[in-house]
Amino acid sequence: MNYQPAEDRYNGQMPYTYCGKSGLLLPRISLGLWHNFGDVDDQQTARDMLLYAFDHGITHFDLANNYGPAPGSAERNFGKIFHENLVSYRDEIIISTKAGHSMWNGPYGDGSSRKNLMASIDQSLKRTGLEYFDIFYSHRYDGVTPIEETMQALVDIVKKGKALYVGISKYPAEKQVLAYNYLNSHGVPCLISQYRYNMFDRSIEQDNLSIASQHGTGFIVFSPLAQGILTNKYLKGIPENSRASRPTGFLQRSTITPEIINKVAKLNAVAELRGQSLAQMALAWVLRDNRITSAIIGSSSVGQLADNLKAMQHLNFSEEEIQNIEQILLGNQ
Ligand code: NDP
Repeated sequence: MNYQPAEDRYNGQMPYTYCGKSGLLLPRISLGLWHNFGDVDDQQTARDMLLYAFDHGITHFDLANNYGPAPGSAERNFGKIFHENLVSYRDEIIISTKAGHSMWNGPYGDGSSRKNLMASIDQSLKRTGLEYFDIFYSHRYDGVTPIEETMQALVDIVKKGKALYVGISKYPAEKQVLAYNYLNSHGVPCLISQYRYNMFDRSIEQDNLSIASQHGTGFIVFSPLAQGILTNKYLKGIPENSRASRPTGFLQRSTITPEIINKVAKLNAVAELRGQSLAQMALAWVLRDNRITSAIIGSSSVGQLADNLKAMQHLNFSEEEIQNIEQILLGNQ
């Protein structure tokens, strides 16, 4: 294919920020491949989204071993599109993957053991055809494996040259601190921490975000649009082909309750007053805190991606808007 990236892709439309106390810049919006890049999805759309993202300054793509369906197919499909179009731009791109959720049969295909992580990164390198990942994550604390075992595996993955940096995802606060301390004392500081954050899930505000910031690691948030709920798409029911309607989608229809939609409609009105779509306002809202390095969005079309990227044009909130949103979320309005 004769893809030529847009020459103006770094012309200032996408801001970049240092990831914690590292020298690595990340775009404030990153693209995730959890949905829409599996074997069940349209590959032309997948290609168009990846290239549109790169053309507009998104230099970071987020994967995991099990993204699909089928598990592993998002990595394989990404690898194919990457090698056909983007391989000459490898040094302009940050690619992450993860291991820790169920991936293959038997006792070693799940969890955070050294056995799982070591086998998984080799599988991920093979599926994507990459020589190395930029970031490799422990996808979760599994409740059993000692932190030292998982973190030493991450250290060794970097020392073997299979990843440049490491991160953790969804670790509870107490384990988060142990992980940072172990990695620091073994010469491979934790680059980045990945947690869910959106207007409807603010649990990181309690401790994970401040702990990460105190330890100098970057913070990247997933599902900033609450899987699509924080857009205008569910205001009039559940549209065909939306994530909530698809059998392979992770979003349950039962999550979209009248109470939620009542709040979404009010938030939508605030967004309109700001001259934004709700998706744009929801993204601006998670990025209002400078400790948040980047928000990983998903999209199922180039149109959604284009809509979301316009969030960059209006990131600031007035105190009144912030208060208004707080009251809506509390159900006081
Ligand atoms: P979002 O909250 O951004 O949801 C994305 C979905 O919302 C899209 O697929 C689309 O769904 C809908 N949408 C997006 N933009 C618009 C728009 N402008 N208008 C209307 N609908 C829109 O993020 P995700 O939940 O997809 O998560 C993002 C990434 O975060 C993942 O790909 C993954 O990389 C990472 N992640 C990490 C996890 C972890 O455990 N570390 C867990 C989950 C995600 P539709 O199909 O309905 O069109």
